[in-house]
Amino acid sequence: MKEKLDGAKSYFDYKERCLFCDMIRQELTDAARIVEESRHFLVFAPFAARFPFEVWIYPKRHACAYVDITKEEIMDFSRRSANTLKRLGIALKNPSYNYILYTAPNRIPRSGHWHT
Ligand SMILES: [Zn+2]
Repeated sequence: MKEKLDGAKSYFDYKERCLFCDMIRQELTDAARIVEESRHFLVFAPFAARFPFEVWIYPKRHACAYVDITKEEIMDFSRRSANTLKRLGIALKNPSYNYILYTAPNRIPRSGHWHT
């Protein structure tokens, strides 16, 4: 997790933009790896997937923590998540899988650190 956060911070320091928002914009532009798009979320296969059939569900608005999710987004996320698992289950005949949720670990402001 620390490596991911450090990488995102380095990207932000260099580009002055959010890595994850840029990834969403790039995926929407390419439209080659999109599995599903909804009002609030984009489901896609990452450009450099670490595992076969790896799928990411990213919010389309800049967000770093599930505590900030709205009720409408919760419903939307639930549908995208269920659809994704259903697709994988059908395509791969109910495989075992890892389901990982990333969220901001600690949002207490500290000097010299970002706040989102
Ligand atoms: Zn962002």
